[in-house]
Amino acid sequence: MQGIEEVRSILASPKNIIITSHRNPDGDAIGSSLAMLHWLSGMGHRVMTAFPSEYPSVYNWMPGVKDVRIHDFEDEDIEAFIATADVHVILDYNSLSRIDKLGTALAKHELYTLLIDHHLYPDAMGDFILSDTDASSTCELVFRFIRAFSSQASITPDIADCLYTGIVTDTGSFQYSTSPALFRTVADLQEIGVDNHALNHLIFNNLPEKSLRLLGHCLYNRMEILDDFNTGIIFLNKHDFQVFDIQRGDTEGIVNYLLRVKKVQMAAFFRQQPSIVKISFRSKGDFSVEEIAKNHFNGGGHRNASGGYMKSGLAAALGKFKEVLPLYKDKLNKTVLI
Ligand code: 5GP
Ligand code: MN
Repeated sequence: MQGIEEVRSILASPKNIIITSHRNPDGDAIGSSLAMLHWLSGMGHRVMTAFPSEYPSVYNWMPGVKDVRIHDFEDEDIEAFIATADVHVILDYNSLSRIDKLGTALAKHELYTLLIDHHLYPDAMGDFILSDTDASSTCELVFRFIRAFSSQASITPDIADCLYTGIVTDTGSFQYSTSPALFRTVADLQEIGVDNHALNHLIFNNLPEKSLRLLGHCLYNRMEILDDFNTGIIFLNKHDFQVFDIQRGDTEGIVNYLLRVKKVQMAAFFRQQPSIVKISFRSKGDFSVEEIAKNHFNGGGHRNASGGYMKSGLAAALGKFKEVLPLYKDKLNKTVLI
């Protein structure tokens, strides 16, 4: 693996290491960060894991998650540690702009940087870069990295649980982004001790009642199918956030339900937040939502799963989306499902 010898020499003596991942961390961001936290701590380094914003409570069971620091709440502590840090590990994102003020704080220091990620268009910002957009998840790449660095023996059962969590969530339970290499990785993780049945329960059958009621509300009252464009929309306004007491992570996965409609090629899920509207995009087949997120909504991601935002109210964001749809009408009507 290119550059790994240099990483080996850097990590040969104890270092202060800051691990970061993106805002609104998902299973892959959390899983890869905790896996690296356990692995690097096990090697004798002093490690802090920091996210810009809170993680969803469904991940409260994950080993080590209580040690994660949140920049929205603990900026001073985190920035004091960054001032002493030697190494920065970037996981599951590839541009400091995705971590807001945490990125501004990190940009002030010259740290040796390792970037491990599977998103498109990485900024050239790592001394060591493992970027593979064909990989299912950052967790799959962390597994590859650790094995190249030392051996599979350094992957403990806790690390394996964290890596499995990122893989199963980022592949939609092995529905997409799979490969022979991925299934071999999962087989290795199972040999290390992953109990996939138990973990699947912890990850997926762990919702509060209100989440299921919220899903019902989205599907019954907030869904619109735009037949001419083979597109489905769900939106949630400020009032919905209050009524359903929506917390971070509670809306995770809702966008995917739109794809269950046979004719829907593209799904868009709008959430009204205090000063922005956050949007999740999903698609089937070769229709690229990444293009839409990047060109019109300040975002990006992958061909079939992207996100973005608009600094506006909900009506304006929905209006903008409906305005740009005609540009993609031909593609949306032509897309051949795979
Ligand atoms: P989600 O809809 O689950 O929040 O995000 C789906 C994908 O889009 C993820 O891979 C995520 O990293 C990416 N994504 C979400 N929001 C943004 C954004 O604001 N900017 C960029 N560049 N990518 C995003
Ligand atoms: Mn990911």
